[in-house]
Amino acid sequence: MEQKTSLVCGAGGFIGSHLVKRLKYEGFWVRGVDLKYPEFSKTAADDFVIGDLRDQGVCQKILDRPFDEVYQLAADMGGAGYIFTGEHDADVMHNSAQINLNMAYYGTKAGIKKIFFSSSACIYPAYNQTDPENPKCSEDSAYPAAPDSEYGWEKLFSERLYLAFHRNHGLNVKIARFHNIFGPEGTWKGGREKAPAAICRKVAEAPEYGEIEIWGDGKQTRSFLFIDECLEGVRRLMDSDFLGPVNIGSEEMVAINQLAEMAMRVADKPLQVKHINGPLGVRGRNSDNKLIRSKLNWEPGLRLEDGLRKTYQWIAEQVSKSRLWF
Ligand code: NAD
Repeated sequence: MEQKTSLVCGAGGFIGSHLVKRLKYEGFWVRGVDLKYPEFSKTAADDFVIGDLRDQGVCQKILDRPFDEVYQLAADMGGAGYIFTGEHDADVMHNSAQINLNMAYYGTKAGIKKIFFSSSACIYPAYNQTDPENPKCSEDSAYPAAPDSEYGWEKLFSERLYLAFHRNHGLNVKIARFHNIFGPEGTWKGGREKAPAAICRKVAEAPEYGEIEIWGDGKQTRSFLFIDECLEGVRRLMDSDFLGPVNIGSEEMVAINQLAEMAMRVADKPLQVKHINGPLGVRGRNSDNKLIRSKLNWEPGLRLEDGLRKTYQWIAEQVSKSRLWF
């Protein structure tokens, strides 16, 4: 049988670099594209192109064959410290929209067989996420649209863009809305890191019986999905005949204070928590997995604490290594 070909856009990023490994493991020929190489380990891709996907010429060049599977994960993104301050709104909208406009158009022209687009839980209306105990994030609650960030608006626009290419040009699209993916080899410092990585870093860096800072009162709720489970969901969606959009997330919702306690428990390090002002996002958010259960007959099962333990171990190693430099 001929080897299947795949293209991973954003292959230097957190999810993209893990996805490349997974596709290689499954026997694909993989081309990765990104502005940068993966930060924490060597790429597993057969071919890795350093290129800017906002550039039409780059998109035409990398789409030199009718790939069996394209994964469009490239985006200008980061955690709350990056997307909720407002300082990066123009970049977030312009850069990511341009990448998606190019990939939908040139992907169609190249005759690709399938394209996956990573949308986000950030598309869900802020008005449904004010109660931390009972947020509503079922797929059909996306409209009337009211995302709480420009990042969410861009994702919603791009979902519609890919669906329009599907209707008008027969592009075979698959769309998932990721809910807070975390794991080893994700950004853990520098301002773009997400809550699980930031909290693990703070716990790892804190002195014995010291304290860590948490943004807000810590009562805001979220759910977090371990990277391996995310990739399992993506691959199952790609192999199904369902288009989405579908949530890929965990239904194990926790308050940020609970997440901090969990990180201290896996680190075996009891610390004080100090609440400070910081960018927060919505009050509550959780994945709703009814649709994925019914369409893919699957949902993620790993406990948050198990994923957090693996992530903490990796981040604690990074913290120790970075101390060796000083
Ligand atoms: P990431 O920032 O680690 O990866 C994105 C990659 O895209 C980066 O390596 C970046 O260099 C690359 N990129 C950005 N602009 C580019 C350009 N112009 N040309 C080429 N490459 C470019 O993020 P991630 O966590 O791996 O997320 C992957 C995708 O999943 C993103 O689209 C993100 O919006 C989406 N998503 C992620 C989460 C999450 O919790 N991680 C949640 C919801 C949605």
